[in-house]
Amino acid sequence: MRITRLPALRDNYIFVLWDQRGGKAAVVDPAEPAPVLDFLRRNELTLTAIFNTHHHGDHVSGNQDLLHDFPQLTVYGGVHDRGRIPGQKIFLEAGDEIECAGRTAKIYFVPGHTRAHIAYYFLPTDEEPGDLFIGDTLFSGGCGRLFEGTPAQMVNSLGQIRVLPDDTRIWCAHEYTQNNLRFALTVEPDNPALKIYTQQVQELRSKGQATIPSTLGLERAINPFLRWDQTAIQRAMGTTEPVATFAELRRRKDHF
Ligand code: ZN
Ligand code: FE
Repeated sequence: MRITRLPALRDNYIFVLWDQRGGKAAVVDPAEPAPVLDFLRRNELTLTAIFNTHHHGDHVSGNQDLLHDFPQLTVYGGVHDRGRIPGQKIFLEAGDEIECAGRTAKIYFVPGHTRAHIAYYFLPTDEEPGDLFIGDTLFSGGCGRLFEGTPAQMVNSLGQIRVLPDDTRIWCAHEYTQNNLRFALTVEPDNPALKIYTQQVQELRSKGQATIPSTLGLERAINPFLRWDQTAIQRAMGTTEPVATFAELRRRKDHF
């Protein structure tokens, strides 16, 4: 399976999953149709599926136009997003498995950013590491705002993700890394991995390059929103309780 990252809107990424031989493609969270249609045309691909992580406009606004050009395609989304995702045909629940380009994706239910958010975890194969399409639940160095969910839900959602293998590629839907790391450094100024990564990200961004995908091993080392059980973070937040630690982190980031 090939994965191509298409920049969209201001800071979104759309991901195209495709298979050169079969001439077929799927797309994750089409924020807008034009970059997707252009990519499909250039590579002579037919779009067979849209995988939506949640209902926000910057993730589903391409659905209708893509359906218009490819009426046979299937729109996938979470079961609790019923009525909120244009064209949705398949209503996915935690543990469901779907096939795409020779790989199997397992569905994770990850409420918090929205109450219906799901993630698509493409299981590793002999040749490829796992690939996690996580929408706005986890960002590199950060996590999604809690628009419809609670800190307890988000800790549970991130807790499910946090135990996947280190080499899992993390495909998040926004290029927010640089700003996230500025906040992370205020929480853990002495984290050596965080300092090194901040330097690397600065270099990438100064050349206009993407920081996505990240890997789970890296995120576990630098992302405060996966590190609620680290002593340094608990001290900074003034509590050792996981949900309270996370809630205080999120509150401070919201006001950063
Ligand atoms: Zn969102
Ligand atoms: Fe978004």
